[in-house]
Amino acid sequence: MAVIDWPLAVRVIRISFVLVALGLQLVAAAPAHAGQALAPGQRQGQYSRWFYPSQMPYGALETGNANLHEPASSGAFLTLPFMGAHYITSLFDHCYPDYQANGRLCRWDGRVVSKTVGGPDPGFDWGYAQTPGQHDYLYYDGHDGYDFGLYYESVAAAAPGRVKLAGWAVPSCHSCLSGLTVEIVHGNGLLTYYGHLSRIDVAVGQSVQRGQVIGLSGMTGTATGPHLHFGVYYENGRGPVDPFGWAGGGPDPWSTDLGDLWLGGSPRFANVPLPQVGVAVGRDPLDPTVISVSWHSPGAGNVYEVQFVTQDGGVGELLRSNIAGTARFAGEPGKTYWFWVTVRTNLGWSDANSSPSITLPGFEPKQAQ
Ligand SMILES: [Zn+2]
Repeated sequence: MAVIDWPLAVRVIRISFVLVALGLQLVAAAPAHAGQALAPGQRQGQYSRWFYPSQMPYGALETGNANLHEPASSGAFLTLPFMGAHYITSLFDHCYPDYQANGRLCRWDGRVVSKTVGGPDPGFDWGYAQTPGQHDYLYYDGHDGYDFGLYYESVAAAAPGRVKLAGWAVPSCHSCLSGLTVEIVHGNGLLTYYGHLSRIDVAVGQSVQRGQVIGLSGMTGTATGPHLHFGVYYENGRGPVDPFGWAGGGPDPWSTDLGDLWLGGSPRFANVPLPQVGVAVGRDPLDPTVISVSWHSPGAGNVYEVQFVTQDGGVGELLRSNIAGTARFAGEPGKTYWFWVTVRTNLGWSDANSSPSITLPGFEPKQAQ
């Protein structure tokens, strides 16, 4: 099935005249800090769901490990807008990213596909399939960004910046264009664009950090399956750029590109601590009617919620805490309990885990004298 979205059209609607001067050149205002991106081979492991029910998983897998063998441009400032490996299900079309189908698509590395090479899928004129079964739309004629196979997963800011848009691309039409959308401006004449979200966690004017959760992916707007549309655009409405730049043999057909914009020269995950909850339970050595429950997680600015669950399914809150620790829980003799701990970091990443179950001893029968 096709995933269709129209961010360029939205950009055209949202031209900002005030910032024209800023956008004439990519200002080197954002220095490249390679330490803000994880080194090749490192993964942000637990965010690695690859579900993509609406599309076949035939696209390139973005693992954060590849080397493009391209130098980063002096203005490189981006990390991937998600954590963990995910499929790329649609690429940026250098010929041309204008949502017009011209029968020809050009990838950042110079590879060209057309209706007669590799496709097309007869059911979808704008997608030129490259795989057996012709079911993926890795090449989507006129696409002006990258689609990633995120299935209702946290979306991360690709660079520090300020939120310019946090809401419906078309307020009166929730099935139009890119639906729930976030735009972040980065002070270098460019903005990053996150479309088809199911939830937005930031507000207009808010500053965000690299790797901060800005919302949850989804399929709002015009999309037939959940995915993230990620794009990089001139703030002044001059159009999209490909964050991969151009490494083809000839000149870049899309002449307003700005080179390889990934920190370190290849797409990497933001180097921010992610949570991973551990929970342990045990008997209190001083009181057999008390359970000792302990919780911890890596992360920064962690806020924990510890709940107890009874054997009949009841749930109650034991405590909230901003530190890892241990608490005492007094249950009923002979009853079984387990504990559920959630954590949220100061950048919005969350995790949860359960303890093993534990049964308190029953009443001891009275000994006959
Ligand atoms: Zn898209």
